[in-house]
Amino acid sequence: MENIKEYIAKKKEFLSSYFKEQKRPRVLTIVQVNEDPASNAYVKGKLKDCAEIGIDARMLKLPLETSEDELLAVVDKLNKDKSVDGFFVQMPLPRGICEETIKRAILPSKDVDGFNPLSSYTPATPRGIVEFLKDNGYSFKSKNAVVLGRSNIVGKPMQKCLLDLDMNVVNLHSKTTGEDRKFYIEHADLIVVAIGKKYYLSNEYKYKEDAVVIDVGINREDGKLYGDCEPNLKVSYQSPVPGGVGLLTRLALLLNFMEVCQNNGI
Ligand code: NAP
Repeated sequence: MENIKEYIAKKKEFLSSYFKEQKRPRVLTIVQVNEDPASNAYVKGKLKDCAEIGIDARMLKLPLETSEDELLAVVDKLNKDKSVDGFFVQMPLPRGICEETIKRAILPSKDVDGFNPLSSYTPATPRGIVEFLKDNGYSFKSKNAVVLGRSNIVGKPMQKCLLDLDMNVVNLHSKTTGEDRKFYIEHADLIVVAIGKKYYLSNEYKYKEDAVVIDVGINREDGKLYGDCEPNLKVSYQSPVPGGVGLLTRLALLLNFMEVCQNNGI
């Protein structure tokens, strides 16, 4: 597999030529209603990406006391604002605001995150992973995939993406028995780990020699980042943390935004 940083640089060149050739700067609005350090870092990264490739990204930071009705009013305004090409609401949201209600209120045609069930866009993390594997010539058809974790933002949409690519997919979670986990992991060609536990996957398993492991986990400890997998698993490829899926996710958001602009026209 290609080095992820080099891969991203190449894709950004392509995106940059698209956005810089547009008749007007395309506008992406980011709504944030939290002070979460991970969200701050993520949003900062997205703003930097947008500036680099010529997207007019606008930050709308709302106070923590914002109510669900007030946030719905902001979403409604953005849905109707013709000068805004696309937008997303950064999760998590303060207590008292239902994330599902907000996701469903976003107009599917402006839903850059792809979290509205009616949206045709794929959530950024699964999309970033699939694009990377596809661009590296990975052949999905009829192979066995294991997805560890069943969150709505990664595990479940990841499972759907891989199923749509004709893989045999098993989704494991906290209620899976150790025996079954071992069986599925040891028969897997592709393993996507999105659990949120440092070094959860180790060489205690006997992986298939040509297995590919994609590590989604981001675990912070003493100011450092760790994945859900121990480094140097005995597999043919393991994505790094940091410098892996986090970057692919940021890229996929830009790809979704490009498609939003293409589909919505001028
Ligand atoms: P999440 O909502 O934190 O849920 C964790 C999932 O892991 C749940 O489905 C849970 O199962 C499962 N799980 C927990 N302990 C387990 C165990 N011992 N064995 C098997 N499954 C277990 O998931 P998430 O939001 O997808 O986040 C997962 C990780 O990915 C986090 O580290 C997060 O920071 C990271 N992440 C990274 C990116 C990126 O761009 N790199 C994007 C999103 C998330 P149950 O459903 O049974 O509770």
